[in-house]
Amino acid sequence: MEKNMNDAYSNAMEQLKEVKELIGLDDNVYEQLKEPKRLTRVAIPVKMDNGQTKVFIGYRSQFNDARGPFKGGIRFHPGVSESEVKALSAWMTWKTATVNLPLGGGKGGVIVDPKQLSVGELERLSRGYIKALYNVLGPTVDVPAPDVYTTPQIMAWMLDEYESIVGHHAPGVITGKPLSLGGSAGRGESTALGGVFVLEEAIAKIGLTKNASVAIQGLGNAGGTMAKLLAKAGFKVVAVSDSQGAIYKAEGLDVPAVLAHKAKGGKLSELGGAIDDALAVEADILIPAALENSITADNVGVIKAKMILELANGPITPEADKILAGKNILVVPDILANAGGVAVSYFEQVQNAYNYYWTETEVNDKLKQLMTDSFNQAWAKKEQYQTTMRLGTYALAVGRVAEAMKARQA
Ligand code: NAD
Repeated sequence: MEKNMNDAYSNAMEQLKEVKELIGLDDNVYEQLKEPKRLTRVAIPVKMDNGQTKVFIGYRSQFNDARGPFKGGIRFHPGVSESEVKALSAWMTWKTATVNLPLGGGKGGVIVDPKQLSVGELERLSRGYIKALYNVLGPTVDVPAPDVYTTPQIMAWMLDEYESIVGHHAPGVITGKPLSLGGSAGRGESTALGGVFVLEEAIAKIGLTKNASVAIQGLGNAGGTMAKLLAKAGFKVVAVSDSQGAIYKAEGLDVPAVLAHKAKGGKLSELGGAIDDALAVEADILIPAALENSITADNVGVIKAKMILELANGPITPEADKILAGKNILVVPDILANAGGVAVSYFEQVQNAYNYYWTETEVNDKLKQLMTDSFNQAWAKKEQYQTTMRLGTYALAVGRVAEAMKARQA
């Protein structure tokens, strides 16, 4: 997958311009939505195991907080850039608004390949990120969470660092924490489970059923859990891929066996049925769940699916999106399809504020209601404007953000 993040922010702004024209967005609001409210770049010194100090570059982009505190993950990846965090922070703003959470949007990242660090170095980097940025974070200011290559353990170190600096408990400053530190039941599977609830609504709209065939690109936290949940629900998962390869089986893969093989460090290709590309297979539903820009104008032509559920953030470039719309392929956009993660992050904050905790069943029931309602509200906008599901969802989200901004300024 080609990873070209240099233009991520211009992609995000192109989408905003399209929705501005569709809904007649107020010019003053539009001007304010062209840049994050605050973008912080920090140099984080980390003492490496060999005694030398290495400096890592980190960012926090706080895009909009008209509806509530900034909210969004922290990514540890070599491809992190200013453009990427800005784009992801804009998408977080639309995402929290799509599912009607009282939150804004932000995103952070560090340019690092965490696989090259020891556990001690990773802990010092995580704590260093908070030391550098604690003064722009807080439970009522900006609440980070995990993203690509950041984990509950990293959230625990970050929470501990923040609480040491401010001198009191503040579990609501970060979500995706381990259960022992105030994490929410259900958080680990929430992105994928939210995706399943949305998928179940979407397939009904285009006449597919629960034994439809599915191809999934990316088998990490989002994609791997999605594969597991869909197989359990009766869907036929015919193809999966990861960064090292892809496999296909027309009758459906044995998903638990595939995931167990991967968990042991095995390669997908060792399971037989190796193919070049999971995007190109015969499947009713395609789920990109890896990184951005995996579907471009160059490879969109190979797709045979009737619908695409964007579990990854920004997997389809705007150009490819137009080609898919022209072919009448239903694309359920990222800001709706993967909003289950931030929804349960919000539930985590609520539980932290009450210091009272829900069961996994309570969390999942609330998630189902929220995701189902949000899908139907976005679908109604798509119908109202006679447009794509992406633009319908954006109309819903940007409209909500604009309403809050105007209410503050009137
Ligand atoms: P992850 O690091 O756990 O998994 C990423 C997966 O993608 C890995 O299996 C990796 O092998 C695979 N991959 C990388 N390059 C690939 C390629 N060229 N072809 C096929 N597969 C490839 O990350 P994640 O948390 O699962 O996140 C994946 C996407 O979902 C990201 O866009 C992320 O922003 C988004 N997302 C995740 C969450 C969450 O809660 N985890 C929430 C919302 C959005």
